[in-house]
Amino acid sequence: MGRYLDSSCKLCRREGMKLMLKGIRCETGKCPIEKRQRNVAPGMHGWRRGRGSDYGIRLREKQKVKRYYGLGETQFMRYFEEAEHTKGNTGEVLLSMLERRLDNVVYKLNFAPSRKTARQLIAHGHIYINAKKVDIADYVVTIGDKITVKPSEKSKKRIRMQLDTNPNFTAQSWLQLDIKDPSAVIVALPSRQDVQLPIEEQLVVEFCSR
Ligand code: SF4
Repeated sequence: MGRYLDSSCKLCRREGMKLMLKGIRCETGKCPIEKRQRNVAPGMHGWRRGRGSDYGIRLREKQKVKRYYGLGETQFMRYFEEAEHTKGNTGEVLLSMLERRLDNVVYKLNFAPSRKTARQLIAHGHIYINAKKVDIADYVVTIGDKITVKPSEKSKKRIRMQLDTNPNFTAQSWLQLDIKDPSAVIVALPSRQDVQLPIEEQLVVEFCSR
């Protein structure tokens, strides 16, 4: 799969919203979306952001989801096909599956400042699930899974340092976080409210079902 190597901020500027791809920088005034004169789509005609066609509006919603979770097109469509064959509202099932990706969970637990860093942590073998090393970022966690950090002082120190950046951090209710260990248990499936991406998932479903 090809990897996106260009600027992450360009993706946010294209979608006209904060996708939070750069960790702590996204919270500061350096974020281009916060600056009126820089919050334009990339390219020569970026400032000409029109209303868009029905197709364009649906395409943008799909791209937002894909970029927010750092997925390629094929990978995203695989999730969509699985969601389509699962009981329930396809859009909500899709978001729930994406939300349970291991890289997203590691980020949501504040073990990493961004999903990109979370993927790196996982690939380098710092994350264990149910006492076994899992180095696949797209592993989808289920209820009862226990996420721990590699039992080495170096790994634990790294995660503790990240947790220390936000002492008031509280995890979402579907994640039971133990800051001292550090570890977490998946106690429920994420609901639509837990997905902090303001999109209309029905438009994504309509785009992908064409
Ligand atoms: Fe860049 Fe983060 Fe702002 Fe997106 S939210 S534009 S990644 S700083």
